[in-house]
Amino acid sequence: MLKYNFNAGPCVLPKQATEAAIAAIRDFDNTGVGVLEISHRTPGWERVMKETADLWRELLAIPDTHQVLLLGGGASTQFFTVPANLMKKKAAYLLTGTWAQKAIKEAKLFGEVDIVASSADKNFSYVPKGYTIPEDADYFHVTTNNTIFGTELHEDIDSPVPLVADMSSDIMSRPVNVSKYGLIYGGAQKNVGPAGVAFVIVREDLLGHVDRPLPSMVDYRSHIGDVEKNRSMYNTPPVFSIFVMHETLKWVKEMGGVAAMQQLAMKKAALLYDEIDRNKLFVGTAAKEDRSLMNVCFVMSEAFKDKEADFLQFATERGMVGIKGHRSVGGFRASIYNACPMEAVEALVQCMQDFEKRV
Ligand SMILES: *Cc1c(COP(=O)(O)O)cnc(C)c1O
Repeated sequence: MLKYNFNAGPCVLPKQATEAAIAAIRDFDNTGVGVLEISHRTPGWERVMKETADLWRELLAIPDTHQVLLLGGGASTQFFTVPANLMKKKAAYLLTGTWAQKAIKEAKLFGEVDIVASSADKNFSYVPKGYTIPEDADYFHVTTNNTIFGTELHEDIDSPVPLVADMSSDIMSRPVNVSKYGLIYGGAQKNVGPAGVAFVIVREDLLGHVDRPLPSMVDYRSHIGDVEKNRSMYNTPPVFSIFVMHETLKWVKEMGGVAAMQQLAMKKAALLYDEIDRNKLFVGTAAKEDRSLMNVCFVMSEAFKDKEADFLQFATERGMVGIKGHRSVGGFRASIYNACPMEAVEALVQCMQDFEKRV
C-alpha cells in the first residue's frame, strides 16, 4: 500500500535524495568505493562539503558576515554550544515549548537566563507577543517553529541584541533575512536531511568574546578554521548525513528554492487547516494566527472524544504514517515538511472526510 509519511522527525526526505544515497553507498563519485568507506579528505568529498555550504549560502542568501557550519550532534548539542560561545553574563529566552525549555535548561549552566515571555499558561498553544527584550542580554533566543505544539513565529523579529534562533523544524521553508540573526541553528532531520548533523549559521564577529575556557569541539572557531580546507572538518564530519543534506538542498534548489517551498507549504497547510476548521469531528490546538506551516496539531472535538482511537486506526489503514500526536498535546499531528508532497495532504484530508461520513 502507498504510505503517506507525516512523521515529525526524522521524517520524509525527497525521494531523489534517498535514491542518490543508496547509489553512493555502493559507489561514491565514481571512485569505486562507497561514501561510508572513503576518507573525508578525498577531493570528491571536499567538493561535497563546499557545495553543501555554498547551497546553504545561495538558498538563504547568507551574507559574508556569517559562516555556515555543519557539525555532528543535533540541535540539543547546540543548546549548550550556543551559550558556551555567546553568553558572557545573561541571555534572554522566549519560552514557547518543550525545545525552548530544554535550551533554557542548558543555558542556565553558563549564566543568568531571563525568560522574557512564556506561553506555558495555555500549554504552549500560542506565541507570546508584546514583550520587551532586555538590552543588557548577550543575545535573545527564540524557537521559530514549535514542532511539538504546532506554533510558528512567521517573521524575522527585530531585536536590540543578537537574535539566536532554533530553526530545526522550519529552516528552508521560507526566505529568512539572515542579517537579522546573530546565529541560526538546528538539527537536520526535519527539513534538510537525516539525523546526525546540525547546521549553524553564525555571525563571525560575535565569537571570541567570552572568558570561559572552551573545549575545542565546543568552540565554533575551531570549526571555521582555515575556511576553504577545514570548515566543518575540524574532526571527521558526519559524512553520510551531510551527503544526504547535499542532495536534499539540491532538490530544494531544483524545486525553485525557499520562496517556492514557502508557497507549497502555505498551500498544504491551508488545505489541512481548512479541513480541520470545517470538519465537525476535529479542532486545531494552536492559536490561528500562530499556526505552524510545518506541524499541524489537532484533536477530536468535545462531542467526538471517544472516536480518537477509531480515527487513528482508520487513517493507518489508509496509509497514513506518523499522525499520532505528541503526548503533551494528544490527538494528532501531521508534519508536512518540505518533502511531504501535496498528494499526502490531499489523502489525509480525504481520509478525514470519509471518516466524518461514517460517524
Ligand atoms: C527536533 C527538534 C530539536 C531536537 O533536535 P535533536 O537534533 O534531536 O537534538 C530541537 N528543537 C526543535 C525545534 C526541534 O524540532
